[in-house]
Amino acid sequence: MSNILGLRDWEVSDADPDIRIENFVTARYTIHPNTCTACGVVDELYKHGTYKLEVRDVPTLGKPTRILITRQRYRCRACRATFAQPMAEIDSSGTMTKRLIAYIQENAIERTFTSVAKDVGVADNTVSGIFDNYITALDKMGTLFQTPEYLGIDEIQIHGKMCCILTNVTERTVYELLPSRKKEDIVPILKSLRLPPMVKCVCIDMWKPYKLAVQEAWGEEIPIVIDHFHVVKLANEAVETMRKSKSSTENKVDRISLKRRHRTLLKRYNDLDREGRTRIAEWKVKYPDLIHVYELKEQFYAIWETTSRVEAEVRYQQWLQSMPKELLPWFKELMRAVDNWHSEVFAYFDHPITNAYTEAMNRIINLMVRYGPANSFETIRGKLRYSKRNLRRLSTYQSHMRYDAIGADKLLPFEVLAKGAYGVSLSGTIESLLSQSSVDTEANPYAEFGFTEAELMDYGRKTEELWDVDMNTILKHSKL
Ligand SMILES: [Zn+2]
Repeated sequence: MSNILGLRDWEVSDADPDIRIENFVTARYTIHPNTCTACGVVDELYKHGTYKLEVRDVPTLGKPTRILITRQRYRCRACRATFAQPMAEIDSSGTMTKRLIAYIQENAIERTFTSVAKDVGVADNTVSGIFDNYITALDKMGTLFQTPEYLGIDEIQIHGKMCCILTNVTERTVYELLPSRKKEDIVPILKSLRLPPMVKCVCIDMWKPYKLAVQEAWGEEIPIVIDHFHVVKLANEAVETMRKSKSSTENKVDRISLKRRHRTLLKRYNDLDREGRTRIAEWKVKYPDLIHVYELKEQFYAIWETTSRVEAEVRYQQWLQSMPKELLPWFKELMRAVDNWHSEVFAYFDHPITNAYTEAMNRIINLMVRYGPANSFETIRGKLRYSKRNLRRLSTYQSHMRYDAIGADKLLPFEVLAKGAYGVSLSGTIESLLSQSSVDTEANPYAEFGFTEAELMDYGRKTEELWDVDMNTILKHSKL
C-alpha cells in the first residue's frame, strides 16, 4: 500500500480518497519505544493492547484528511507503569498532526479562519484558537522586528475604538498595532525600541499625544515630521467649506451643479482635463471668491513642491501676505495647524517622509473590519504583523543577514516547520546557542533547548530537504 500520508515510519493499511468528501486513512506508527516513560529503564517494555485514535491531518488532494490510528500501549516490567506509544508527528492534544497545526498557523494568517477550517475539516474556533496561540508564541520570540529607522505613527478606528498603528515607513512594514492611541500606552512601546541611530525620524499626524510620547520616550532630539498630506488636506477643506456655504445660498440648479462637480475643486489644476479647466473659468466669473480660495489652495500645495526648508518657509509667509483679509477666515484651521506645528510641518523638507504606507495599511484594516466583522483587534494585529508579506519585506528580519548565504526567503517556511514540529524557532535556537559561548558542542548542543538526539537528527534532515544544506552549514553561516 503506497503511503498516502508521506510520513516516514508510518504504515498505511487503508486509504479511501475517492468516494468520501474527506480522505480517510487507516495507519499505525512503526517506531516502538525501548525506554519506559515513567521510570526510564531500558528494554523492559512489553506490549499491552492497542486502542484507536482519530487525528486530523493536512488536506490531501483538495480534501480534509482523517487518520484512524491503531496506537500501541506498553507496560513496564520494572515499574508496572503503562503508557501509550509516543508518536513524534502527533500534537500533544492527540487530535491533530503537528504538520496540520503548522499548516493552520501559516494559512490562518493569510486567509479567513472559515476558509482554513473548511479546508482542513475543523471548526472555525479551532482555527482561531491555534492562530491565537501562534501569535502569542511569535510575540514571545520578540526578536523578529528591528527598530524602524523611519517610524510612522497614525491612528485607526477598529470596531469603534481609536487604535494606533506603528509602521516602518521606508521598509513599508507594519511594526505594531496598539489598542489605544493614548500617550501613556504608546510610551512603553517606544521605550522598548532602541535609541538612535536606530530611529532617525518619526512621522505623525497632528495629534499632540504622539509628539509627547516620542519626546517622553526619547527626548527632543528625534526629528518629528508632520505628514504633509495632512497639512495640504486642510487647504482642500477650506475650499470644501466655502463651496458648501455657497451651495446654501445659490438657487437649486447652481447648488446641484456645485455639489455634483465638487471634485473639480479638490483636484490640482494640472490634473484637470479641458472640461474641468473650462468649469473653473466659468465659476471664476460666477463665484470669484470661491475660485480665489481655490487658487490659494493651489498655491499652498505648490509650497510643498520645493525641496528647501528655507524656501518653503519664505513661500509660506508670502502666501499668508498675499491673502485678502476677507478670505482669511476660510484658512483659519490651516493657519492654526501650521502655527501650532510649525517646526514639525517644515521638518518635512529635512526628512521628506510621509505616512502614505501607514494610510494604505489603514485602508486594509478597514477592509478587514468590514468584511470580517468577527475579526477581533488581536486577530487583525496578528494577521498584519505576521503576514508573509510583512515578514518577507523585513530586511530587518533579525536573521536575514546571517542566513543570507543560504537564502533568507527560505527561512520563513522553515521557521514555520520548526515551530510546528518542535515548538521552537530555528533562529531563536541558534541565537541562544551562540550567546552561550561555553556550550560543549561535542555533546548534544540542543539538549538545553529540549531536543532529543532523535529530534535533532530529524531537524537536520528536514533542514537539508528544505534548504538543501546540512546543519553544519547553517551553524557555520549563523556565526558569520
Ligand atoms: Zn518503568
